Amino acid sequence: MKAIRVHEFGPPEVMRIEEIPDPSPGPGQVLVRIRAVGVNPVETYIRSGAYARRPALPYTPGNDAGGIVEAVGNGVLGVAAGVRVYTSETVTGAYAELALCNAAGIHPLPDGVSYAQGAAIGVPYATAWRALFQRARAVPGETVLVHGASGGVGVAAVQIARAAGMHVIGTAGTAEGIALALREGAHHVVDHREAGHLDKAISQTGGRGFDVILEMLANVNLANDLKALAMGGRVVAIGSRGTVEIDPRDTMGRDASIVGMSLFNTPTADMAAIHAALVAGLENGTLRPVIGRELPLSAAPAGHVAVMSSGARGKIVLLP
Ligand code: NAP
Repeated sequence: MKAIRVHEFGPPEVMRIEEIPDPSPGPGQVLVRIRAVGVNPVETYIRSGAYARRPALPYTPGNDAGGIVEAVGNGVLGVAAGVRVYTSETVTGAYAELALCNAAGIHPLPDGVSYAQGAAIGVPYATAWRALFQRARAVPGETVLVHGASGGVGVAAVQIARAAGMHVIGTAGTAEGIALALREGAHHVVDHREAGHLDKAISQTGGRGFDVILEMLANVNLANDLKALAMGGRVVAIGSRGTVEIDPRDTMGRDASIVGMSLFNTPTADMAAIHAALVAGLENGTLRPVIGRELPLSAAPAGHVAVMSSGARGKIVLLP
């Protein structure tokens, strides 16, 4: 099979397409023929060598894909060759024509959801769901700011929060991103490149502030987020690319909380609950992954450059 291989950590060009032997499923494993692969920022951090979790070299990046079950190992029940699935975790890497997965890492891809959309679910939708419900404990009727609503996690968060009955304000940095977040369910969207954009967002809550803020760039926004919270408000730090200075009094006066999360820390039972909810949302049409750009698998380096650039408009996927 063809697969992207990384032999040394470094810039996007260290990813090269190679011919390697097809994997075969062992006990408890499923082999998936990959039709589309999701590109996530975390794969760029890992590839650069700067991330805390570093795989043994050489490796194939990625966990999120849409595809078809090719073969099933001993002891896997309820899954057969030919079934459409999305993957949230792989053993051998998703940037490839075939990927080995443990049975818990594959989930049914409902009819009407494309393989490219399947590739857009794993990290982004699971992160958005966990941030909103398992970390922020958001409930229907609350106001939510999705700070970075035009990217993979942001679009997912907007759809999930809107479907759950929350009042959703989003932010994006381009006219295209603003239109996307509105189309996907945000009640109002502001431009996070504008100074004072949070004041405009707060005015959409009648001045009360947000019960929940899902933050994609905490190093830039956290200090101001704390001033934008309602009494008892929670900020979930989902993305951050540096440090930030905050005034702790902004949390004290509001009984506010700053909650961190890494999807890697999700307990198995919580992850199973998340994917059960996501499959239901895909089936009933409330969750509709948006594809911003499709590239061939060999263009993985360009995909990594694109996912770290501004002007997000949904997911970047690679097609083997
Ligand atoms: P993405 O698709 O590249 O989207 C990035 C988002 O950040 C876009 O909506 C972008 O908006 C927005 N953004 C840019 N400048 C911003 C600003 N000043 N304020 C607020 N938002 C801003 O990435 P993603 O997959 O959605 O991931 C988002 C972040 O979360 C990344 O840093 C990623 O590493 C992190 N993440 C963390 C976890 C976890 O477990 N903690 C899981 C998944 C992702 P424009 O492009 O429109 O400006």
